[in-house]
Amino acid sequence: MEELPDCVFDAVIVGAGPAGCAVAAALSGLGKKTLLVDSGVDRKKLFSGELLHPVGVSGLAQLGFLTALERCGALPVKGFAVLEPGEPAMLLSYDTLGAGVTIEHARLVDALQEDVLRRPHVTFWSNARVEGLVSQSDEEVSVRIHREGQRLIARGSMLVIATGRAGALREELGIRERHQKISTMLGLTVSADDLPFAEHGHVFVDGQAPILGYAIGDGLARILVDVPEHVDWKTLADDPSWPRAVPEPLHSAMRSAVKRGKPLFASNDVRLPNTSVRGRVCLVGDAAGCCHPLSVSGMTSAIRDALALREALVASPRSVRSALRSYARARRAPQRTRIALSSALYRCFAESSAEMGLLRRGMRRYWTSSIENQQASLALLAGRDLRMTAMAKEYGSVVTHALVDWSRNAIAERNPVGTVAELGPVARLIGTLMPHARDALVGALSDTAGHLKAQASRMPTRLALPVSLPAALRSQRRARHAAGRGTSAPTN
Ligand SMILES: Cc1cc2nc3c(=O)[nH]c(=O)nc-3n(C[C@H](O)[C@H](O)[C@H](O)COP(=O)(O)OP(=O)(O)OC[C@H]3O[C@@H](n4cnc5c(N)ncnc54)[C@H](O)[C@@H]3O)c2cc1C
Repeated sequence: MEELPDCVFDAVIVGAGPAGCAVAAALSGLGKKTLLVDSGVDRKKLFSGELLHPVGVSGLAQLGFLTALERCGALPVKGFAVLEPGEPAMLLSYDTLGAGVTIEHARLVDALQEDVLRRPHVTFWSNARVEGLVSQSDEEVSVRIHREGQRLIARGSMLVIATGRAGALREELGIRERHQKISTMLGLTVSADDLPFAEHGHVFVDGQAPILGYAIGDGLARILVDVPEHVDWKTLADDPSWPRAVPEPLHSAMRSAVKRGKPLFASNDVRLPNTSVRGRVCLVGDAAGCCHPLSVSGMTSAIRDALALREALVASPRSVRSALRSYARARRAPQRTRIALSSALYRCFAESSAEMGLLRRGMRRYWTSSIENQQASLALLAGRDLRMTAMAKEYGSVVTHALVDWSRNAIAERNPVGTVAELGPVARLIGTLMPHARDALVGALSDTAGHLKAQASRMPTRLALPVSLPAALRSQRRARHAAGRGTSAPTN
């Protein structure tokens, strides 16, 4: 095996998807000599993220990708249209949050990679594969790379794992993950003219399995059909009413697309690694956790990771390890809320139970009762407000609206037998509040603990112990002396 003498970087990033490219841009901006390595998967054959919430767009802008985004033909998205059979379409606008974008996945990632390739301090090896970790010491971490028939060792003071769901490197690091397969996503491509609301993302709901749809450029639209675990997708089109929640002309367009064959497939999973940092190694994007794509939040979250990492490195310029610990703390709360939101949304839209039917009615009532309610929901969905307490509050408000809706109907219908029969689902609906209330409490407590820990870690650690006060004073004197001489302490 050959080890090139010049293969030493400040950071090695494995994976040049949205997360890896965003981190490379962030590190380039900090002047870090960065190696970005990607195994060169054919993204045209992949079925992956294509809608970016406004928070993701603004994150890309902060990382200097706005021109790349414009050049690749990204289309603006105003918000979401929620369509349910027999109900008027619900249009939820991003409004003050700004505009999102949609773009075919391969085009987006090609544009990000091309852009990042030109950034200072970035070396990009496409078609190279990181085979494994070689070592991690107090000073550096090294990986073995297979590139153009050669095996190389690259060393860096930090390693960023942006490999998406691929778990080999996580496993090598001893990072365990909770994994749950939820369903399969079937991807169809139709004409964008068939979409009911051209400038919106669409969610078609019928209490069976949600369908998403949005324009992806070149006059085309991507339709994402959630296929539950026990269902064979080929039998879908045998039912002439499928897709029930989708109006014409999209209904016929989807049936034709299924008959044409060659749809795209992706597995819908929840993956939750037990940590996002180990020593000098950090996980970003899907590698650090993913959920069902119904919340369309994966890429926005990946970009947020890159910004959080940048902020942590700026705040702790002298210690990579301490910066990575801060990064882990900073991403914990938003990630927890995103995953909880996605799972609550999926249950609400995909479950045919009576209590979830009540919840969907409550959601509709909640949204129609005020624009502020719509904005609060979209702020959560789009990742602007990712407090667990906000998520629990939203859920509680929707349940309250569901209960008001149910009791008004019960009074209007004057049907005591029917009302008694519905008490079970009502009780179960109220029961669904408990996990969210518990998660909000746990989330709030752990956020406070994290905040206190972060504050403590910013103080000189020895000062926390009265016995080492003289040592702390000595070190302060040394620091003042060094500053006076215009030198700085060595970085690690
Ligand atoms: C069907 C579907 C629809 C989705 N829709 C949306 C959406 O509309 N909006 C949204 O925000 N999110 C969506 N998501 C989620 C989104 O696609 C992901 O969150 C996002 O792609 C994650 O980016 P990433 O960079 O972390 O990982 P990836 O995009 O998976 O990139 C990982 C990269 O790492 C490389 N790699 C892996 N192992 C190695 C190795 N050992 N050496 C070198 N390179 C390696 C791979 O080649 C790949 O290029 C969707 C997901 C699915 C499945």
